[in-house]
Amino acid sequence: MQEQMHIGKEKKGKTSEDCIFCKIVREEIPAAKIYEDNEIISFLDIAPANKGHCLVITREHYTTINGIPDELLGKVIVVVKKISRAISSALGSDGFNILMNNNKAAGQLVPHAHIHIIPRFNGDRLNLTWKHNTYGEGEIEEFKEKIKKFL
Ligand code: 5GP
Ligand code: ZN
Repeated sequence: MQEQMHIGKEKKGKTSEDCIFCKIVREEIPAAKIYEDNEIISFLDIAPANKGHCLVITREHYTTINGIPDELLGKVIVVVKKISRAISSALGSDGFNILMNNNKAAGQLVPHAHIHIIPRFNGDRLNLTWKHNTYGEGEIEEFKEKIKKFL
C-alpha cells in the first residue's frame, strides 16, 4: 500500500546533517526562537505569510507527521496552542491558521516536519483558500469506506 510505504520511508530520529531545521536545532544557523524545551522548539518563519508567522518543530528530525511518536506529537500540539495564544495576544490579531504541509505533493519544502501558525487580521489579503470539489452520486460513501479500512 502506498500509505504504508510512506510511513515505512519515514526518516526518524536525532538530527539530519543537511537539514536546515536541524541546523537551527543545533544552533549552527540563527533563528528568531520564541520557545524551546527538551523536545520542541518554535521560531519565526523567515519568509512569513503574515508577520509573526511561527513554526513549531521537534528537535529530533522526522520528515512528516507520520514519523512523530504519538506522545511527542501530543506535546507538539499543546505547544502550538500556547504559541497561537501568545501570537494573538502580542499582535492583537483577529484569528490564526494552523497548517502543516506533509510531503512535496502537499507543498512541503523543508523535509523536517513543522507546523505553521499564521496570524490573521480582518481584511488581510492572504489567500489560503481552495476551489471546492464535489462528489458524484454515492462517491462520498465510497471514500468513507476506503479510508475507514486503514484506521
Ligand atoms: P513548508 O513549505 O516546508 O511547509 O514551509 C517551510 C517554511 O520554512 C517556509 O515558510 C519558509 O519560509 C521557512 N524557512 C525556510 N528556511 C528557513 C530558515 O532558514 N529559517 C526560518 N526561520 N524559516 C525558514
Ligand atoms: Zn531536520
